[in-house]
Amino acid sequence: MKAKVNQDKCIGCGNCVALSESQVFDFNDDGLANCIVDEVPADLEEITKEAIEECPTEAIEEVKEA
Ligand code: SF4
Repeated sequence: MKAKVNQDKCIGCGNCVALSESQVFDFNDDGLANCIVDEVPADLEEITKEAIEECPTEAIEEVKEA
């Protein structure tokens, strides 16, 4: 799966960064979260889905393949 963070919605709470231990999401220089992998490793997909569900501003979305 792929994921992306909408920078206009992210409030930098850090939940997704903490959940993924900075392996899928990490902060950029603006203190907002970014998805740092092109493809989420299979063993981190569950965590990523959890991060999507738990994001307080619904800033993260799964990118569906065309
Ligand atoms: S959980 Fe949502 S609001 Fe919090 S840092 Fe991640 S993307 Fe931003």
